[in-house]
Amino acid sequence: MTSIPHFVNGERVSLEGESPVYNPATGEVSATVPVPDARFVDQVVTSAREALITWRESSLSARTNILFTFRQLLVDHADELAQLITNEHGKTLADAHGELARGLENVEYACGLTEHLKGGFSSQVADGVDVHSLREPVGVVAAITPFNFPAMVPLWMSANALASGNTVILKPSERDPSVSLRLGELLIEAGLPKGVFSVLQGNASTVNQLLVHPGIDAISFVGSTPVARHVYETGTAHNKRVQALGGAKNHMVVLPGADLDIAADAAVNAGFGAAGERCMAISVVVAVGDIADGLISKITDRIDKLKVGPGSDPASDFGPVITKEHRDRIVSYVKTAPDDGIEVVRDGTMLANSPGFFVGPCLLDGVRPGTKSYDDEIFGPVLGIARVANYDDAVALINANPYGNGTAIFTRDGNAARRFSKEVSVGMIGINVPIPVPVSTYSFGGWKNSLFGHAHIYGPEGITFYTRAKVITTRWPQPSESQIDLGFPTTR
Ligand code: NAD
Repeated sequence: MTSIPHFVNGERVSLEGESPVYNPATGEVSATVPVPDARFVDQVVTSAREALITWRESSLSARTNILFTFRQLLVDHADELAQLITNEHGKTLADAHGELARGLENVEYACGLTEHLKGGFSSQVADGVDVHSLREPVGVVAAITPFNFPAMVPLWMSANALASGNTVILKPSERDPSVSLRLGELLIEAGLPKGVFSVLQGNASTVNQLLVHPGIDAISFVGSTPVARHVYETGTAHNKRVQALGGAKNHMVVLPGADLDIAADAAVNAGFGAAGERCMAISVVVAVGDIADGLISKITDRIDKLKVGPGSDPASDFGPVITKEHRDRIVSYVKTAPDDGIEVVRDGTMLANSPGFFVGPCLLDGVRPGTKSYDDEIFGPVLGIARVANYDDAVALINANPYGNGTAIFTRDGNAARRFSKEVSVGMIGINVPIPVPVSTYSFGGWKNSLFGHAHIYGPEGITFYTRAKVITTRWPQPSESQIDLGFPTTR
């Protein structure tokens, strides 16, 4: 059985594996992941600290060259990287390419580092006094990532962290760790010095060692809410800068008068794409007024045409979920929904009898607060319909939800859309856009239980998170002209 290596000092380092990696389309174990002991974690942190000494002093042009070359290598290797993602995650190849494209955007943003790292200057703030500011790297960054975007989320973090002069230790999800090794190798090929980017494989115990390690300065985490809270509390208690992005329950409001065909297309794509394993997936469609029955009929027409199969089959609309345990958990939400008075309009759980970790599309009508399938993040191909009487009830439902990652409204009414964007307590809002992931020139982040810490990830807030500000106030004594030593004889 192959053991997935670590990537330290520019080399693959193999240790005996423990934690299984599956091919979710077949249910077979494809490899194992090593879980490092404290001594090995220490070695990796030491190598990142040593590499920091020269990397933080590297010129901006040298860093820019490396990032431009890395960007091209990602493009050249996109097919190979997408295949690695599909093999271990299960998503379709088209989705894997989409994830790489969104990751690539962050490398492109980081290529503008000379602009992003520019400080400010104020002349003559007092007599003979000038002030300038600059941003220095935070140090060694631990990047801890979830299974559902094994290339994009590492690129969200690493591109800006490296551009800002930090060294990075990536702890990828133990479910789909292989693509992270290729990212490391492509960075070396692009000219990144050894030790600046490492991949430390492992599981929760590895994360817990990083959270308290004195050699780690900052932690970027993306994953589920309970773990995000734990990472934030433990990391900050150990004097680290932490941003910890958590889970989600994203609502899509459909107002009377909206184009129901457009809304149904959006709900099905955003609800079932990547088997619902996206933190920006729509999990609740909020049907306002009397449109629910018409909307459900259009959604079911589309659901009935979806094809679920291996991610490597170009005909598949979505692939399997990540593990057998996760599949069984998803199925249990659908099976128990009628106990809460919820109607199961489409039930895809019969696919769970296949050897791969498949669940077909499920549609639940009547989800509401206090029911398990509404309250929990299911993270699978299960779309709920919530019926509310009016716009105010829709906003109240969203604002009472403990998560605040993304939300969307479908309407033809510009005034309602404008009010909605102001009135919801959510970080990312789509107006007739179901998955409003910001482009890389903006930052990504939710509110409430979807983010612990104040810094959103990537974009300008990413650069701020990975740097510390310095402000320098300067006054030079002002000698009389005759006392100025110009360093060479003058004619006077
Ligand atoms: P997870 O929280 O189980 O794991 C994330 C990382 O934390 C992994 O590297 C894992 O090894 C580690 N980990 C797991 N349990 C831990 C523990 N008890 N202590 C310390 N470390 C631990 O998340 P996942 O299942 O890999 O990913 C899915 C979750 O991530 C969903 O909740 C999804 O909404 C969320 N997510 C959020 C965003 C966002 O931007 N807000 C993006 C992607 C995914």
